[in-house]
Amino acid sequence: MAKQNNLSLLSFQKIYSTDTICRERLFKMRWPNGFICPKCGNKHYYFLEGRNLYQCSNCKYQASVTAGTIFHKSRTSLKKWFWAIYLVSKDKGGISALALKKHINVCYQTAWLMLHKIRNAMNLRDMDYDLLTLVEVKKRVIIGKRKKDLVIEVAISSKTDRPKFAKVRLIEGEGDKLADKGYKKLSEYEKNKRKEVMRWLNLLISNMRSVLNGTYHCGCREHLQLYLDEYCYRFNRRFWEKELFNRLLFASVKFKAITYAELTG
Ligand SMILES: [Zn+2]
Repeated sequence: MAKQNNLSLLSFQKIYSTDTICRERLFKMRWPNGFICPKCGNKHYYFLEGRNLYQCSNCKYQASVTAGTIFHKSRTSLKKWFWAIYLVSKDKGGISALALKKHINVCYQTAWLMLHKIRNAMNLRDMDYDLLTLVEVKKRVIIGKRKKDLVIEVAISSKTDRPKFAKVRLIEGEGDKLADKGYKKLSEYEKNKRKEVMRWLNLLISNMRSVLNGTYHCGCREHLQLYLDEYCYRFNRRFWEKELFNRLLFASVKFKAITYAELTG
């Protein structure tokens, strides 16, 4: 199945109508040139129906298409996972666990965990990229009812002085200082440019606040970073909105899942 951008709800429903179709999509993402045994490199396999495993005809290794992805060992069907990724990619403000629970008919805890696994994949995907020509600023921002100290790293477009890519990190403690990464300081910009950069930075922060206040209801500090990661992931791909489902599916296949114990430990 060719990858399709900007799927309407009806098209999505039609295309990803069964778990088998979702699994076939993952198969093609994982082995774009046909099955290759992860153990011996053999190209022939038998599909073990019922267990959804691909058994190598040579060494008998049983490969799973979800191993090493955020879907691995999940009791939730692939069809529901695909729906979750689709809904996350469609809504500019993200989706709350309560809304996802209702849309795909799972319990609240399952919806919550699925969304955090997706957010973590977003974070890991953005960590793949190094930001260049950065400005780094420390900001105190009110999110929910509390003030949070954030470090905002922004790559500035040399043509427009607007933020191009952003990473936002929650400061853990009072002593947490900006890391010396050799980034250009805001003070190093000439006055007019500094003003322009700050204007855009404040706009970014203001948008981030309204988006987070719409979806970040738990108010707990320990998960705020994942919500910031989701905001940045979306912001960094704002010009590729139509491709967001495919990009997010790619990230979901590339990274293994964060566990409930890791999230709550
Ligand atoms: Zn093999």
